[in-house]
Amino acid sequence: MLYVCSARPGCGSSSASPGTERRVHRLLSFQRYLHSSRLLRGITQQIPLPILDEDYSGQARCMLEKVGSWNFDVFLFDRLTNGNSLITLTFHLLNQYGLVELFQLDMVKLWRFLVLVQEDYHNDNPYHNSVHAADVTQAMFCFLQEPMLANSLTSYDILLGLLAAATHDLDHPGVNQLFLIKTDHYLATLYRNTSVLENHHWKSAVGLLRETGLFSHLPADDRDLGSLILATDISRQNDYLSRFRMHLDQGNLCLSSASHRHFVLQMALKCADICNPCRPWELSKQWSEKVTGEFFQQGDIERKHKLEVGPLCDRETNTVGKIQIDFMTYVAEPLFAEWARFSDTCLSQTMLGHMGLNKASWGGLQQEQTPVSEEAEPSAAGGSSSKEMPQGSRES
Ligand SMILES: [Zn+2]
Repeated sequence: MLYVCSARPGCGSSSASPGTERRVHRLLSFQRYLHSSRLLRGITQQIPLPILDEDYSGQARCMLEKVGSWNFDVFLFDRLTNGNSLITLTFHLLNQYGLVELFQLDMVKLWRFLVLVQEDYHNDNPYHNSVHAADVTQAMFCFLQEPMLANSLTSYDILLGLLAAATHDLDHPGVNQLFLIKTDHYLATLYRNTSVLENHHWKSAVGLLRETGLFSHLPADDRDLGSLILATDISRQNDYLSRFRMHLDQGNLCLSSASHRHFVLQMALKCADICNPCRPWELSKQWSEKVTGEFFQQGDIERKHKLEVGPLCDRETNTVGKIQIDFMTYVAEPLFAEWARFSDTCLSQTMLGHMGLNKASWGGLQQEQTPVSEEAEPSAAGGSSSKEMPQGSRES
């Protein structure tokens, strides 16, 4: 295994015997590679939360009663759970669906799996951290509750959908694929410059499933999880969207077919992953600032090392609002318009409504920040609503 040696020169065997499986996973992990892991330092693994849900704090438990609300404030939930939103939320949802019992999941293995998943997110990433994973898992739950899905999905589909959401950005390094390619990172070589991050998230998730033995008693296929996580590669959005549009035009999505259900799960996960613009302004704005912060952080590294600065990563030529408006126009709106055709519900209309308002608000903030001399016309998008918005943003 070339990547083992290239990650840590001179280390380890390249055999894939069961005894080295754990070691290989650890070496694949950016987090454990870059920040010497507890394991490598010989510190015993500590479980950060007591095992059963009686120990959730009262307020966090209260929030879980409304876990299907589109206004769910995952930032607050993360604070109430002492930074354990991903573990707590996923554990709750799996129990709420009765999946632990149905699939006879070992409670200790499950808990250990979730702890490792949360640990393998990098909480020093401004955006791609465990709170984003918790947010995507909560959004996925909202979509799974939609009648089109709730009436057709099997328990296995639901289990897969929730686990894919929780693990879809596992061990994300906080930089994009382009950065990994131009710095000749071993993962780019390993995955031949194609869906590099998504392949790594998937393989990391499979590593944790094997390490904990969570599904060792089930005939689960890793590829099902993989194809869901791979669908979150934004560069392949047009492929998925064209296929989705074609099915909707022809009215031939048949949810009794396992492959069509799987495709719908892929679309649901894609929507969950990029649903930030569809959340209420106060939540959406925070996500926008975080993701832009991560882009700009990458741009700073690129500039420092005299690499070409990526298109969204230059803090001198971009603003949060500009990036958001373009993202909504070219990526989010086309996707959510089709999703609303497929699932024409109150939630879909609410999401489109929020996106329209958020776009207008960023437009308004952009205008306020444009110097008077450069201002072509003092009218246009979002002028009135901007007055209602909190002023300013960190990056701009
Ligand atoms: Zn994501």
